[in-house]
Amino acid sequence: MRRKIVAGNWKMNKNLEQGMNLIDEIIKLNSSENVLKIFATPFIHITSAVEKIKDKKDFAIAAQNCHHMESGAYTGEVSASMVRSSGTEYIIIGHSERRSYFNETTPLLVQKLNIALANDLIPIFCVGENLEDRNNNNHLEVIRQQLKDALYHLSPADFSKLIIAYEPIWAIGTGVTATTHQAQGMHNFIRSEINKKYGKEISENISILYGGSCNAENAKELFACLDVDGGLVGGASLKANDFTAIANSF
Ligand code: PEP
Repeated sequence: MRRKIVAGNWKMNKNLEQGMNLIDEIIKLNSSENVLKIFATPFIHITSAVEKIKDKKDFAIAAQNCHHMESGAYTGEVSASMVRSSGTEYIIIGHSERRSYFNETTPLLVQKLNIALANDLIPIFCVGENLEDRNNNNHLEVIRQQLKDALYHLSPADFSKLIIAYEPIWAIGTGVTATTHQAQGMHNFIRSEINKKYGKEISENISILYGGSCNAENAKELFACLDVDGGLVGGASLKANDFTAIANSF
C-alpha cells in the first residue's frame, strides 16, 4: 500500500529556535499516525530536528539539497553521506527553485540522485512544467521527458525507493493551486508512465505528492484524488496549525 505523506519544505525560513518551536508545536497538535510527516529543514537545523522526532515513527527529516560529489575540496557544501550520518532519511532533489536559481541541470540532478541513493537517502524527486508549457498543452510531454531523463537509468530496486513530487511551477508560492482535475490527470499520467517503464507493482506502490500552494483549505480535495498520495508543502508548512490540518486532510 502507498504511504500517505505530507512533507514541509521550509526553504530558507525559520532560525533554529523558531524551527524547533515549530516542530514542538506540530508534535503537540497530534496528527494521524498513518500519515508520515516530513520536515525538510535547512541543513543547520537537521541535527536538532532529528533529535526532536527520533522516537516517532510518523515523523522524519529531509534535507533540501546535497552536493553531487562524495567528498572533497568543495568549500561550503554538504555531502549526501554527511546528511545521512545526521540521521536524516529523505532528501528533496530537483526542486524548481534549485533548477532555476542554482542552475541545476538534469545531468547534475542525476548525479545528486545517484549519490543520495548510494548513501541510503530516499529522494523526493520533483518534476513540474512551467505556465507556458501548460498553456501550450505541452505539460504531459515535459513531465514525460523529465521522468525519462532524470530517473529511467535507475534499476527497478532503486526506482522503487523514490517519492515523486509533481509541482507545477506556476503553482509554487503563487496562491494558484492546480485543480483536482489537473492534479489527478497529471498524477495518473505519471503513474501510467512509470507503469510502462517499471511495471504495475512499482507504479502502484510509489507515492506521488502534489506541491504548489497546497494549504489547509484545498488539501482535502487534492488528497481525495485517487493518484495523489499527499503533498509537498512550502508556505503552509511554516505554521503548525496549517501543516497539521494538511496532514489530517486524508
Ligand atoms: C514548494 O516549494 O515545494 C511548494 C510547494 O511551495 P508552496 O506550497 O509555497 O507553493
